[in-house]
Amino acid sequence: MNYTANPNRYSTMKYQRCGNSGLKLSAISLGLWHNFGHVDELENCRDILKCAFGNGITHFDLANNYGPPPGSAEENFGKILNDNFNAYRNEMIISTKAGYKMWDGPYGDWGSKKYLISSLDQSLQRMRLDYVDIFYHHRPDPETPLEETMSALDLIVRQGKALYVGISNYKPKEAEQAIKLLRQLGTPCVIHQPKYSMFERWVEDGLLDLLEKEGVGCIPFSPLAQGMLTDKYLNSIPKDSRVAKGVGFLTEDHLTKEKMEKIRKLNQVAIDRGQKLSQMALSWILKDKRITSVLIGASRQQQVLDAVQCLTNLDFTKEELNKINLILS
Ligand code: NDP
Repeated sequence: MNYTANPNRYSTMKYQRCGNSGLKLSAISLGLWHNFGHVDELENCRDILKCAFGNGITHFDLANNYGPPPGSAEENFGKILNDNFNAYRNEMIISTKAGYKMWDGPYGDWGSKKYLISSLDQSLQRMRLDYVDIFYHHRPDPETPLEETMSALDLIVRQGKALYVGISNYKPKEAEQAIKLLRQLGTPCVIHQPKYSMFERWVEDGLLDLLEKEGVGCIPFSPLAQGMLTDKYLNSIPKDSRVAKGVGFLTEDHLTKEKMEKIRKLNQVAIDRGQKLSQMALSWILKDKRITSVLIGASRQQQVLDAVQCLTNLDFTKEELNKINLILS
């Protein structure tokens, strides 16, 4: 199927270096955790991907288990890549991960070499790719020796199945060890993918300092707290929202009275800055030079466009930051 990407796609997006590596990522990246499974409308998936790529987003993030059902986001992505993006593979940074339960039995979960190697082989098949750009260990495994997990990442790079490797959901101590082991193996850890938003600030307590010291990039996920840091839930729960769809982890009880009060106040700060709340939430993360890219989700094209627009307003006054901190305290 013919598809010619917008020729101006590189004119407004910012590209930022991932730690000390040679890799640059678009300041906004798109994740396919929700909205890209077999339960979703394929044409909408295609439109969102075209919109993202056409607006300078070069990085697309997947995992073995994204769907539902697990694996179906990679399958849909592979189909759309094959239909429309073949000419653009060299302009795209595609990542996938393994670390959560993917198949039954002792080899379909956590961090053994057996699981990681098999899982990436399956992911490549589903996405119809020869290699991914970044392969992540999705979460720390308390039982498998870290040496084994990291040597699996090293092997994957040596086999040419991934160009770079990263870790996700690792706390500072675990991350420090993983980074050290990978360096010893000669395959540097280029990126860490932690959860980070105005509502979830644990990375400020040591992780960001560590990543800066070690020259590792950082790509926060769920920067909009799955949609709570937008204006969508201010008046009601829209029928087509993540909360109403009930397919994931965001449920109505997350929208407590206290949280809604904070969202309302943050929304006012955003309006006073001339932004939407969703845009301010992204700008607020990107203001920190230690952040390589923010990893958003989107259920429609307009949400991608909103996100990209945040790049025109990344600066905060001291007064604005104080106001935000007071609301979040
Ligand atoms: P966000 O916090 O960005 O939430 C995305 C959701 O917010 C959208 O699907 C949409 O939900 C809503 N939204 C987005 N923009 C707007 C807007 N402008 N106005 C109103 N609502 C908006 O991120 P996700 O939680 O989706 O996570 C992003 C990515 O991070 C994932 O796809 C995945 O790649 C990665 N991730 C990684 C994890 C890990 O363990 N490493 C775990 C979780 C995510 P709606 O459907 O309501 O429209």
